[in-house]
Amino acid sequence: MTHDRYGERVDLVDYDPSWHWLLRLGVEREIASLPWREPRAGAHVVRAALMHMYTGISSGAACPISMTYSAVPALRRTPELAAEWEPRLTRPDYESGALAGMAMTERQGGSDVRANTSVAEPDGDGGYRITGHKWFCSHPMCDVFLVLAQAPAGLSCFAVERGPGFRIDRLKDKLGTRSLASSEVEFTDLPARLVGEEGRGVPAIIEMVNHTRLDCLLGTAGGMRRAVAEAVHHARHRSAFGARLADQPLMRNVLADLALESEAATVTAMRVARSYDENDVPFRRFATAVAKYWVCKRGAPLAVEALECLGGNGYVEESPMPRIYRDIQINSTWEGSGNVMALDVLRAMWKEPDGLPAFLAECHLAAGANAHLDAHLGRLDTDLAALTSDDAQWHARRAVESLALALQASLLVRNAPPAIADAFCAARLNDGGRAFGTLPSGVDAGYIVERALVV
Ligand SMILES: Cc1cc2nc3c(=O)[nH]c(=O)nc-3n(C[C@H](O)[C@H](O)[C@H](O)COP(=O)(O)OP(=O)(O)OC[C@H]3O[C@@H](n4cnc5c(N)ncnc54)[C@H](O)[C@@H]3O)c2cc1C
Repeated sequence: MTHDRYGERVDLVDYDPSWHWLLRLGVEREIASLPWREPRAGAHVVRAALMHMYTGISSGAACPISMTYSAVPALRRTPELAAEWEPRLTRPDYESGALAGMAMTERQGGSDVRANTSVAEPDGDGGYRITGHKWFCSHPMCDVFLVLAQAPAGLSCFAVERGPGFRIDRLKDKLGTRSLASSEVEFTDLPARLVGEEGRGVPAIIEMVNHTRLDCLLGTAGGMRRAVAEAVHHARHRSAFGARLADQPLMRNVLADLALESEAATVTAMRVARSYDENDVPFRRFATAVAKYWVCKRGAPLAVEALECLGGNGYVEESPMPRIYRDIQINSTWEGSGNVMALDVLRAMWKEPDGLPAFLAECHLAAGANAHLDAHLGRLDTDLAALTSDDAQWHARRAVESLALALQASLLVRNAPPAIADAFCAARLNDGGRAFGTLPSGVDAGYIVERALVV
């Protein structure tokens, strides 16, 4: 609603009560705040597990929960802002707490934020006034937003509040996460406070972006988990041609393949979350980029195959499958879509030389335990060599995919039952089939599918 009945601007989004219920759940269960409220060992992992379950219910409310969690480390760059906002952002109380959003993307480009044209002018009193627009601003009912704008010293990060000077132009008509309002907003002389240093906007907001990228992993893994559970449940109760679908070899191959992908996504997301607990910066930086690329890329194909397991019923809105299918893709598009993540891995290799060795060391922890993985690790050198050639960008997706598979296989070999790890390595590290349901012989599908239903 942009105006009230008297024609005054109100700029409000009126959500369904069930959406508030869901958002409240995320706030009260500390999914937006736990590691900042209780910064002890394992807090990010515990919070990651909660986020994983939460996104299995719905991705819509997960966005403001994720942005609120992710804004805290960026705001800490300016202690006065952190002192003012952190107590509210981390308070697990829906009424008296606060939510944070972000607005970087403009009409002329989102990946290349240097093209931002919004202008921040010093107000002569230590603050700034921003005038410009943002083409995407999710949950515009947040209390505080981190935004980028051009200040005299260059692109800078600012904290702004919803209020006078903050106008919602319209809401997006989106493919997925339709329960969440994503908007276009206009700023006119909007009061703003600097986050970090003037002219250093990208390093400031990237603190937030890296945490939301972690949540893209968790959101995809959570959505996959839900999709696989729905597919397995349906196949166990539906009969065709005289037998339960789940007992028929071809369907077992599909279900087991989906379950492997889901487990690989989950173990990867949780391992990356652990690196946020350990403040293991080289691994965290590199692994977030690699895993954001690959895990999120696998979300939509998995969701569509799981949908198909329900036949026509999966295509109908009375089942949760269409929503899961539509929602899961946001994780790949938002906060660095595929190419941008692949380019980010290249950038990390060149600019932060400790990242790749830390990542490879983690992959090699499982060396010697699985012949397929050993062979894959051996081939990685060829993929990585392509990234140092003049054609690095051309080869980037291929190499990032190989790196991601090495990490997933290494994690499964070390942490999953042998039936899971062996099947994953045999299927994903060789010239396997391209669709799901193409697992090779010798895979213990019964065990894998049974395990996918463990709650
Ligand atoms: C539902 C939804 C909610 C969103 N919410 C927010 C929000 O709250 N705040 C916010 O700031 N943004 C938000 N976004 C914006 C989102 O982050 C951007 O859409 C995204 O960053 C991509 O930017 P773009 O749309 O301008 O695409 P572009 O930057 O134009 O990119 C288009 C395509 O080109 C690729 N590409 C870009 N550069 C290169 C290159 N050098 N080489 C090869 N390929 C390249 C990209 O990977 C992409 O596939 C949201 C988007 C969606 C869909």
